[in-house]
Amino acid sequence: MDAGRYPNLHVSHHPLIEHKLALLRDRSTEPKLFRELVRELSWLLGYEAMADLSTQPITVETPLEATAGAELEPKVGLVPVLRAGLGMVDAMLELMPSAEVWHIGLYRDEHTLKPVEYYNKLPDAATVQVCLILDPMLATGGSSSATVDILKAWGAVRIKQVSLIAAPEGVATLSTAHPDVDIHVAAVDRALNERGYIVPGLGDAGDRQFGTFAGPSSEPGHEPGDETAEVVRRLQRDLAGER
Ligand code: URA
Repeated sequence: MDAGRYPNLHVSHHPLIEHKLALLRDRSTEPKLFRELVRELSWLLGYEAMADLSTQPITVETPLEATAGAELEPKVGLVPVLRAGLGMVDAMLELMPSAEVWHIGLYRDEHTLKPVEYYNKLPDAATVQVCLILDPMLATGGSSSATVDILKAWGAVRIKQVSLIAAPEGVATLSTAHPDVDIHVAAVDRALNERGYIVPGLGDAGDRQFGTFAGPSSEPGHEPGDETAEVVRRLQRDLAGER
């Protein structure tokens, strides 16, 4: 995809990220290593995503004398997209131990195909200034766009999306709806397939983290459905129209 079209898109080319991403994609990587890699990649991408946060000056007493230091200014909220985003939370909390973690649950209505909110315990007014939406896979962009809508209505001033892999369709959907949202990823892959999976991708990020390969997935269609395929075709037509 023409990444230059999206000034809000940041694709990391750090060698450590590229190395770990290749291990993550490998079909023979077991859930234990997969979870470790999700955590390490989240840490590295989170570090990059936070590079422009503001600080305020403070004075620190070293054992020898007082010196100037800096303190992170905004309060940060982490919003993992259930369920695969949960594996990214611990790494972000290591980076920012005082971050708040807010959960918003969305599922896709099988008739309207629109994201429907089923869980939201956000307080009435925003308690943080910067929100990081955590989702390993930015696929159609539907859940992310809906999550941004909710967070903006809540009063979040700045919102960033951190994902491990994005599909061009997801980048286009989220960037078109919310061009002010920075997207930080390790890679933008070729496309979505007719089942809503990113290809080449890594498969189902939830199943691979949690070892749930046998059950019906809460993530994109394990059962190929006409509706999923139609949504993917529409997103791909939109994307082609943009070129
Ligand atoms: N979610 C996943 O877990 N994998 C994909 O490829 C797309 C969405």
